[in-house]
Parts: sequence; C-alpha cells; structure tokens
Amino acid sequence: MNINIAIYEPPPALRFVTSAYSRCLLVGFALIPAYLIAYIYFFQDPALKFEHHLFHEIAIAGATLEGLFVAYVTSRCYKASGEPILRWLTLGFLGFTLIYALHGVFTEVAHHNIWLFLFYGPASRLVMSMLLLVGLLSYHRPPDAVEKRASVRVWLAWIALFLLVDLAVALLANLRIAGNPATRLTMEGGALVLSAINVAILILRLRRIRSPLMMIYGISVTLFALSSLAFILAQPWNHMWWLAHAIFAAGFFLLSYGIVQAFHTTRSFSTIYSQEDLMLRLTEAMARSESTSQELQRTNQKLEYLAATDPLTGAGNRRQFIERVDAEIARAKRGNTPFSLLSIDLDHFKSINDTHGHQAGDTVLRGFVRKCHDAIRPYDFIARTGGEEFMVSLPGASTETARLIGERVRSAIADSAFEAGIGQSIRITVSIGVSEFGRDGDTLDAFLRVADQRLYRAKHEGRNRVIAV
Ligand code: GH3
Ligand code: MG
Ligand code: MG
Repeated sequence: MNINIAIYEPPPALRFVTSAYSRCLLVGFALIPAYLIAYIYFFQDPALKFEHHLFHEIAIAGATLEGLFVAYVTSRCYKASGEPILRWLTLGFLGFTLIYALHGVFTEVAHHNIWLFLFYGPASRLVMSMLLLVGLLSYHRPPDAVEKRASVRVWLAWIALFLLVDLAVALLANLRIAGNPATRLTMEGGALVLSAINVAILILRLRRIRSPLMMIYGISVTLFALSSLAFILAQPWNHMWWLAHAIFAAGFFLLSYGIVQAFHTTRSFSTIYSQEDLMLRLTEAMARSESTSQELQRTNQKLEYLAATDPLTGAGNRRQFIERVDAEIARAKRGNTPFSLLSIDLDHFKSINDTHGHQAGDTVLRGFVRKCHDAIRPYDFIARTGGEEFMVSLPGASTETARLIGERVRSAIADSAFEAGIGQSIRITVSIGVSEFGRDGDTLDAFLRVADQRLYRAKHEGRNRVIAV
C-alpha cells in the first residue's frame, strides 16, 4: 500500500471562514422545511384538501415497516457498543412505530371518531421526542454492561408500556376533552418543545460532541421539530398536513442513514470519526507504521548479517560461502569465465593455542582475516569454514591468477607478526590449495575436494606454500 497523504494546513482565517460557512450550510439545510412551511402557510388556501385513505394507509404501513427495521438495526448497534444513546434511540424508534401504526390502522374511522384517528400521530411524536431527549442527555455516559444490553425482559417491559400508551390514547380520544383543540396542541406542542430543547442542548454542547453522526442527529431532530410545527398549523388532509408527514419522514430517513453508517463501521454513535479526524488518524498511523517498518528493515539486515557471518572474525560462514559459490558457478557457466577457490589452513595452529593461550589464538584468527582481506581483490570473498580453515572464492580467476593471489596471501601472512598481549608477537604461516571450476571438477563437491586435496599436499610438502596443480 502506498498512499501519499499530506494534511493541508490552511491559513487560520481561511480555516475559520470555511468552517463557519459549512456550519451555516448545515443550519440552512436543516431549515429547508421551514421555507416550505412558510410557503404553504402564506400562499395556499388551508381549505385545499387531498383526502385519500388508501394512500395514507400505504404510507403509514411503509413507515411502520421502516420503523421496525431501523429499531432492529439500532438495537444491534446498541448490543455491540452498549452506548446508552443507542438504547434510547432504539426505544424511540420502537415506541414511535408501535404508536404511530395505529394512526394508519384507524384511517377508516376518521369520519366516525376523528380523534381516534388523529391522536396517534402527535402521541407517537411526543413519545419519540421524549426518548430522544433522554438519549442525548446520556451521550457521554459509559457503555451499559453486556448483561443489561441482552436483557429481553427490559425490552418487553418497554413494549408493554408503549401498548399502554396506545390504550391511553384510545381512551383519551373517547373523552370529552378530546374535542378541545388544546388536547392535540398539548401533545404536538410537547413534541415540538422537546425536539427544540434537544437541538438547543446539542448546539450548546457542540464543542464536546465531535461525532459527525451527531450532526445528522441534530438535523433530524430539527426536522422533527419542524414537522410538529407544520402539524400544529395544519388541518387534517390539507396540504400543510401532508407536508408535515413528509418533513417527519425526511428526518426519519436521515437519522436511519446515520444509524446504518454506525452499523457499518463502529456500531457506536460517539466513536464515528469526522473526515478531519480520520485524516489525522490515518497520517499518524502511517507515520507509525513507516517507522516500524524501517526498524524492522534494520533488524532484518542485522539478522541477515548475523546469520551469514562468523562472529569471531567477521568473515562469511560456511552457509554463505556455499550460496556464493553456487551463484558464482552459475555465473561462470553463463559467461564461460574462469572461477577459482583457495582452501587455506593455518599451520601448526594448535601449538599457538598451547603456547600463548586460546585468546591469543583468537587474536591471530582475526588478524589473519584482516590481512587476507588486504591481499585479495574487493569482489573476492573469504569465509571461515572450520576452526582455523578458510576458503576464498575468486570470481573471474584462472588457476594461474588464483595461484598468484594465494601466493600474495601466503607471503603477507608469513611476513606479519601478530600482536597478542603485551610484548607477545606471534608469527604464523598458512598452507593453501587452489582449484579451478571446470578444470578440476564440474560440481561444487568435486571442485571443493580438489582444493582440499591440494591443501593437504601443501601440508605434506612442508607447509607455508601454495599448491595449484
Ligand atoms: P596443521 O598445520 O596440520 O594444520 O596443524 P594444526 O595444529 O593447525 O591443526 P589441528 O587440526 O591439529 O589443530 C587445529 C587447532 O585449531 C585445534 C583447535 O584448538 C584450534 N582452533 C580451532 N578453532 C579455534 C578457535 O576458534 N580459536 C582458537 N584459539 N583456536 C581454535
Ligand atoms: Mg591447521
Ligand atoms: Mg585444520
């Protein structure tokens, strides 16, 4: 993954103006229904009616199904995150649906008992606005315990309560005060006031509420308040009345959109991040993973070096040597170029340990590798293949070149004195066998064996010499 993200930091004044502009847009957007309400209120005859029972029944049936669905999705979010606001939202949707459904059911009795038909609307909005307000007040509360979220009894108790409200509304519709305009106004006005309080609290607490879903929540609740206003100004079946339904539906759609966003992401209302937050978190996470991967790369390089290197002398180890020789053989075959090896063994090394001690022996081994490096070419490779045995690979070298390089190594060692402790100067010699790939064998094993055989001949013939044929 390679994403290039740089956070653009605009000048403070521009930042201020653009965020003020976006806030004004949100307010303007939330108030769109107010323009429609004003339009119908001032320019349309309230006596114009569209009374269509089937249409009303279908609309309410749709709203009921949607309400149940949204209540279910919200309850799933609540179950996952335990946020109290999601519990209250679930109850708000559920309560609204169970009460509002009867507004559809009683469409046909509109002419016998208009109140039985009408009251379920404001009652459902009143109940929902109460529950949403309680929900907002619980916004910063810690998540509910897992057992509490799963309790079926609590949900059933609430459902029973909503059914009781249904019953109470039916009773109210049959009382004498039903005909008093104040009755409907109290319910609808209550819903309006509660929704308005909800929005006011949200605006006052805006600084502490950073979730973009709460912006959606705020717009939805504003639409609920405006729909109550439209219902107050309306008469049954007239255009203001239908507009009020549509405004409420718009608020409901928007809020359910927020719920689905939560469901698809964190299943929580408060930990949904704004785009700005997400950008910031993404750049931070990318910076962290970048530095981690650099560290990992460094560690890997170190591990690779350790796995391929002899810790005492810093020469390559046998494993790496075999890898290198395999690669050089392939290259020599492709390019038809010569490739040779030196097999080197330190002479009478045991006696150095015996005379000067093991540590002095180690110092000599390190000194040998250093001197050897000076005598070979930059692209030659030295490896420690045994205690005091070494191999050097010489790409591009024929037997004769290899012999000359071997001679250079031998004389460099023979002419050196190795310092081992104060005043201790140790002199050593080496024996060297040379072999050339192709001439002395076509396989790795055969080619290495010939170098070793020549090394042993050098030992037998008196040591401190190079044997190439
Ligand atoms: P030759 O000339 O026949 O090769 O005689 P040599 O003494 O060098 O050969 P031998 O194989 O008998 O002894 C090798 C010695 O190398 C024995 C062992 O103690 C010593 N040796 C092997 N590895 C190390 C090491 O890491 N450090 C030290 N100080 N000595 C080592
Ligand atoms: Mg030896
Ligand atoms: Mg040896």
